Amino acid sequence: MNQERNGDIEKRTDYEKILKEFGIAHIESIENRLPKDHLFFRRKIVFAHRDFDKLLDMTERNENWAIISGRGPSNDLHLGHLLVFELIKFLQEKYNCNFFMPLSNDEKYVFRKVNSIEETYKLSLENAIDIFAIGFKPDKVHAYISSESHNIYKLALSFSVNLTYNTVKAALGLSGEENIGTSFYSAIQAAHIMQPTVEYNYPVLVPIGLDQDVYMRLTRDIARKRNLFPPASLYVKYLKGITGAPMSSSKPETCIYLRDDERTVRKKIMNAFTGGRATKKEQRELGGVPELCTVFDWFKKFFVRDDKELEEIYTKCKSGEYICGINCKPRLIKYITDYQAKHDENRKKVIKNIEKYFEHKIDLSLLDLKESEKM
Ligand code: SF4
Repeated sequence: MNQERNGDIEKRTDYEKILKEFGIAHIESIENRLPKDHLFFRRKIVFAHRDFDKLLDMTERNENWAIISGRGPSNDLHLGHLLVFELIKFLQEKYNCNFFMPLSNDEKYVFRKVNSIEETYKLSLENAIDIFAIGFKPDKVHAYISSESHNIYKLALSFSVNLTYNTVKAALGLSGEENIGTSFYSAIQAAHIMQPTVEYNYPVLVPIGLDQDVYMRLTRDIARKRNLFPPASLYVKYLKGITGAPMSSSKPETCIYLRDDERTVRKKIMNAFTGGRATKKEQRELGGVPELCTVFDWFKKFFVRDDKELEEIYTKCKSGEYICGINCKPRLIKYITDYQAKHDENRKKVIKNIEKYFEHKIDLSLLDLKESEKM
């Protein structure tokens, strides 16, 4: 078992410095106002915010706000991708919000992650179906593929005069050798974020990882110049990668994809990095270290919704009663495969109603649907 004893990965990340530098508040600053009925807030998986309190004020005044969160389409979603969308589903239901979901196929194209625009269209649809299948109802969802939206193009064009090339270059760390689409994409991203405010007069909330905050800062700057309500944000901790290294789509061993089969899930989880000891004997004597354990991280952030159940796992790990490969890993495998099975069922319902989620016409014929999913 690959052990790392020099501290929790999350603690090592220098969150404090970044929060201070960019004026982001700890979530504890609005502790009493948080919706603690969800584990993301009880367990501090949402750890920081900008202006979320202003949106809560609006809710108290019966005023509307919206959530916006995009997806840069890729081959197959992994569970880490879905964590933020699980949060959005909860917030949308809790605050009765509209949810805007741009599928930023343009981003994937200009940053050369996908070689053809046609391919990005297909991936956008596939990803959208998987995201909606976590339980989004279509009536308050506004999804669109970015390159298909004339309104986004107009808004990006309009915002582009409020951004200089030097600002974007510095913010994104560009060298100047990149294609010009990469710098213009900042205006497109700002258009995605601000479209609900400009078109519907909804202030917006953007749930993101801290590493994506650069786009928030650029967009808030534009919003101030345009006298628009600057977007608010919630910052979410990522799921730890199974190997202990950060989760990455390009490193399949670090994550579980929605379409990993049972054998692959079992193999990946049985090899997962944990806070367990080198031998069973040592673990019985010394107990494990759940704070370091990726399996425990997945229980805490995703699968174990009941606080008492989580507490029990924690206590039995610490006391040495639990052994990683006997008690925890098989339990996590079962959670994952059950989640995948339910997700597969939900996909069929989403596909039947797919037109209702989108703001424009879509062409499902491009997708390689399973026989059971075809209408
Ligand atoms: Fe992690 Fe469970 Fe092992 Fe403890 S017993 S280190 S929680 S896998």
